[in-house]
Amino acid sequence: MADIIDGRAIARELDETTKAQVDALVASGGPRPGLAVVLVGDDPASDVYVSHKVKACARLGVNSFENRLPATTSQADLLALIERLNADAEVHGILCQVPLPKHIDARLVLEAISPDKDVDGFHPMNAGRLMTGTGGIPACTPLGVMKLLASVVPDPSGLDALVIGRSNIVGKPVALMLLAANCTVTVAHSRTRDLPAIARRSDIIVAAIGIPRFVRGDWVKPGAVLIDVGINRITGEDGKERLVGDVAFDEVGHAKAVTPVPGGAGPMTIACLLHNTVQAAKASVG
Ligand code: NDP
Repeated sequence: MADIIDGRAIARELDETTKAQVDALVASGGPRPGLAVVLVGDDPASDVYVSHKVKACARLGVNSFENRLPATTSQADLLALIERLNADAEVHGILCQVPLPKHIDARLVLEAISPDKDVDGFHPMNAGRLMTGTGGIPACTPLGVMKLLASVVPDPSGLDALVIGRSNIVGKPVALMLLAANCTVTVAHSRTRDLPAIARRSDIIVAAIGIPRFVRGDWVKPGAVLIDVGINRITGEDGKERLVGDVAFDEVGHAKAVTPVPGGAGPMTIACLLHNTVQAAKASVG
């Protein structure tokens, strides 16, 4: 049977390290790290995500500053808030929850966040730094993927890695991180030909598509490592809703290791967000 990579346990370990770093920073006279969360509108899923992030801050001793704005907030007012947060010395990380209401240009808002406080790692400056291997703040979900992978393959150098999905927030940054870890990387997308054949020769598969059970058991070579980023809500045969990933989990027992959904990549994203916030606070004092 494939090993199950326990994302919750790995996220807890990362949280412990992050909390120790917060305590050490404050004990040495440094600032208490602070994360500003901006939520525009009342999207229920975004509301849940924001609450989880605020609770995680409290657990790790990170200050959180919640900015909940009505859906009618103008783009100018939102940009003015971002400017204020950029200038606020108590704020080391700024997170603007997406999606934003349609009348607001999300790209403009995300690019208004200071790259030094962009703890989501979405700013083009941080994306460029990742591409050029010159530091910057790494995107949270991709960083989580790499930490999950490292828990079973500490050095993936030379391995064939397949990333399915090429979004700016998951697929592309994961591909760049795997490349930096010396993998030979293939990035697949909706126009890729004969994806099962490419998958069958891959040592590592990262699935970030958003289609339930897309990666089938006969695509996976024995001993491969699977990191499933997908989060899909489906209705089971019993009529109940549940979450599944992009990998047909029950068909990949011949893999070396696989992440479950839920409990794999998901918990890592918030742990990496807090990690990034603390690194930003440390960087602010040099
Ligand atoms: P996007 O919709 O932005 O990207 C999906 C990618 O999948 C695209 O590149 C698309 O290709 C590709 N794709 C779609 N259909 C196929 C196909 N038939 N064959 C091959 N590739 C295909 O999604 P995200 O990257 O934002 O998210 C992916 C998944 O990860 C979602 O389920 C999302 O919920 C989840 N997610 C989980 C997070 C976490 O915390 N664990 C965080 C972020 C996302 P093309 O570019 O050609 O259209």
